Amino acid sequence: MAHAAFAAATVAAQGVAALLGGRVGSVVDGQVVEGQGAPLMLDDPATGLPLLGYRDAGTAVAREAAAGAARAQRAWIALTAAERGRRLWALGAAIRAEAEALALLECANTGKPLRDCRGEVARVAEMAEYWAGWCDKVEGRVVSVPSGHFVTVRREPMGVVLAITPWNAPLFTAGWNVLPALAAGNAVVLKPSEYTPLTSAAFGLLAARAGLPVGLVQVVAGAGATSGEALLAAPEVAMVTFVGGAVSGTRIAGACAARMIPCVMELGGKSANIVFADADLPAAVQGAQQAIFAGSGQSCVAGSRLLVQRSIHDRFVEMLAEASSRIRLGDPLDAGTEAGPVCNARQFEHVRALVSAGAAEGADVFTAPRGRTLPEAGFWVPPTIIAGVTNAARVAQEEIFGPVVAAIPFEDEAEAIAIANATPFGLAGAAWTSDVGRAHRVAAAVRAGTFWINGYRTIHVSVPFGGFGASGHGRSSGQEALMAYTQAKAVWVETAAVPALGFGHRPAGVGG
Ligand code: NAD
Repeated sequence: MAHAAFAAATVAAQGVAALLGGRVGSVVDGQVVEGQGAPLMLDDPATGLPLLGYRDAGTAVAREAAAGAARAQRAWIALTAAERGRRLWALGAAIRAEAEALALLECANTGKPLRDCRGEVARVAEMAEYWAGWCDKVEGRVVSVPSGHFVTVRREPMGVVLAITPWNAPLFTAGWNVLPALAAGNAVVLKPSEYTPLTSAAFGLLAARAGLPVGLVQVVAGAGATSGEALLAAPEVAMVTFVGGAVSGTRIAGACAARMIPCVMELGGKSANIVFADADLPAAVQGAQQAIFAGSGQSCVAGSRLLVQRSIHDRFVEMLAEASSRIRLGDPLDAGTEAGPVCNARQFEHVRALVSAGAAEGADVFTAPRGRTLPEAGFWVPPTIIAGVTNAARVAQEEIFGPVVAAIPFEDEAEAIAIANATPFGLAGAAWTSDVGRAHRVAAAVRAGTFWINGYRTIHVSVPFGGFGASGHGRSSGQEALMAYTQAKAVWVETAAVPALGFGHRPAGVGG
């Protein structure tokens, strides 16, 4: 992996030169701004070696970003809706023009395989195009009331939205959360994870280059406890959209409640991927791998609990272990690599601690690839199957957010549903079956914001996405997002020649 270390550092430096003018920092009013807080270091996930350093934005930069966003929002909403759409479309084109540079930079920073990064960049361009089309379709309505009033309901932007994002898919999540807010007429201050600020900063610069008002997409690079908290306290911030873990999410939702501002919360999950004995087993094996090993399991919708009907449980686990031994682990920058390391040292330790907990609870632990050794340095976790656990085990209850699946047997449909629902989370789930009636019954009974039948992990900007229960609330995609990022204003216009009477008020010459 010595070669990979060299490549990642070179690729990161080239990406920063090409996309950020050679400087790592926040993006405020269309310029890269160096932070004023503590020094922060990014590591190369493939080797654990330092990649790039930068400084936490700090309070002054955060405040400046929020104030600039408020100015930009006024310029944005003063444009016609059609013009806002044209400019979001231009942002999509700007992302396409820089797609390879963005994918390489994302790959070097996150350790996610290059082919996945390329796909995610393409999805972000599609998101910009999708939301461009919505700009001139944010429509109100007319309500019939029992008086002479003409009542319209306008959908108005919130103002400045703070988008706080995690490290597992930085540019994808930025696009997912920033673009609908812009389409609804808002400005956004984006606070990416301190581990992965690079492509988010590039996104902010591309937005300015594409003709969005300067400051409409501000990017504040820094830690949650410092820059994030400063943004949460900024008076211009009128709404928060958060993607991340339950601990920070609870803290941030509390801060929003204290300020009486709304929030959309997209938190983690412990999603059940349910395989019935009547399923197409080779397809289900492929789906189970996609569910948990894609992105090295660092996916909020990961199918981290594999529920398998008891009659096929052992055979299915063996099939999955065998197939997983063929996953191509390797240098993330190699276009043929299917799985890379996990993103950072903190996550690496978390995943390893939970795998040890699984083994300590007496479970059978299968790791792939068999017979091959992983690099000693870097944040490498092999695809791992923990079998022989019950749903009460730690590995079946806690979000691992790594390439680790807990396989749990069940007897029948009722027990599968009961186990699927026996966590506080409710983000996603799937069922593999050839019985169409059962497919619909299970989809209706499992408590989750997204459910797949005979598939896994597909999401799209046009489809609502979000959680039930401890996985969060609100929806950040599809038409539902426009509701989240706007607020309703009722406008009452009196049309009666003789207005309705009330509260003792009598216009001159009316009534007795
Ligand atoms: P995290 O909660 O540690 O951090 C997420 C973001 O919150 C980061 O930008 C962080 O700096 C910021 N933050 C933390 N504390 C803050 C504070 N007090 N004030 C302001 N900002 C603060 O999560 P993570 O470790 O970066 O990401 C992993 C988690 O994200 C997992 O739980 C995963 O399931 C979840 N996730 C959810 C979705 C989804 O759509 N539901 C998508 C991806 C990831």
